[in-house]
Amino acid sequence: MINTWLLKPAELILKGENRKSFEGTLKNNIHILLSSVDRNIKIKFTSGRYYIHAPCEYSEKIENILNHLIGISGWVKTETCEKKEDTVLRACVEEGRRLFNNGIKTFKIEARRTDKSFPLTSYELCCKAGDAVTNAVSSLVVDIHNPQDIIKIEIREKAFVYSGGKKGCGGLPVGTAGRGMLLLSGGIDSPVAGFLMAARGMNIDAIHFHAYPYTSLEAKQKVICLAKLTGMYCMRIRLYILNFTKVQMKIKECAPFSWTTILLRMAMMEASEKTAKKNNCKCLITGESLSQVASQTIENLTCSQSRISLPVLRPLIGFSKEDIIKKAKQIGTFDTSIQPYQDCCTLFSPPHPVLHGNTEEANRIYEKLELEPLIDEALQNPEFI
Ligand code: ATP
Ligand code: MG
Repeated sequence: MINTWLLKPAELILKGENRKSFEGTLKNNIHILLSSVDRNIKIKFTSGRYYIHAPCEYSEKIENILNHLIGISGWVKTETCEKKEDTVLRACVEEGRRLFNNGIKTFKIEARRTDKSFPLTSYELCCKAGDAVTNAVSSLVVDIHNPQDIIKIEIREKAFVYSGGKKGCGGLPVGTAGRGMLLLSGGIDSPVAGFLMAARGMNIDAIHFHAYPYTSLEAKQKVICLAKLTGMYCMRIRLYILNFTKVQMKIKECAPFSWTTILLRMAMMEASEKTAKKNNCKCLITGESLSQVASQTIENLTCSQSRISLPVLRPLIGFSKEDIIKKAKQIGTFDTSIQPYQDCCTLFSPPHPVLHGNTEEANRIYEKLELEPLIDEALQNPEFI
């Protein structure tokens, strides 16, 4: 049996002249994702809706994809039928029975008709369908103002009847806003930052710095797992993993202890920018949030980006930790993020860090360390996943 899923694009209505290209990108993204299930799945875009037609045995895989698809405000599995009054009413009765079997007691009908040649107006269709359902399923009651569920009818090139439906991720299709390089740690924040930028249409690459053997292989594995989870929303993520042990050791041995976190951030930014430029990324992305920790005061954020020219996007800058956690749970990265493996920053962090670093002083100390060759060495053999 062939099922149909109906997808409603998000935000595209806003995009005026670019709209066609945004719609095309979204269609292409859907096509790529569904090809991993079966190359023959058909996607159609017409009158502001995407339709997927596929055998019902693919339901679970397809719905998993739709739950991670950026660019749609919602989706629903729908019955497709001929545009005939009695066929549509029959489908409504079926839908009503399904609702009743799921414990629903009150409902209403909503009808939309883009095909004006259909003989009933939307209002007439609502009335007739409401009567048909209540006649067939007498325990189901119409409640216009506060229904438990809604049976929706859309008369387009075919008739669609459905209820329920799921909220989509929203946002703009990935691939419409250039490419960014996400600094991905093993924490809660950076995967959320990557998701948020992907939801503004950005393709995401990621870079992670570890300090093996001071950090464990499990810590690295956790980051790979986070990249995969975030990548489910981003079409795909290319992850660069750099060994920063020598850089960190040099900082630890030769710099004033209270400055080490800022200096490490500056080195990470330099290495990230070089990797970004090589891979056509137009910005860096971090999970920093103002004043969340000592390294994220406005002065220290300024120090950390002071040696690079690419813009640094910080989508979480005004988020509270509570809001970030909520989002991390929603996108499914939280449980992995809280696995207790130590990140390289926590291992080397001083008990009394500089809170309001002066940029000139930071650069003076940084330059004395002569980190350049060590950074270049780390850049020479990145692990690529
Ligand atoms: P997170 O949950 O992102 O780890 P955090 O509160 O631990 O947040 P910090 O450790 O101060 O924050 O890191 C701030 C940001 O710096 C991270 O969100 C990330 O973008 C970047 N970052 C930190 N450590 C690393 C790392 N080892 N590799 C790559 N990026 C990192
Ligand atoms: Mg962190």
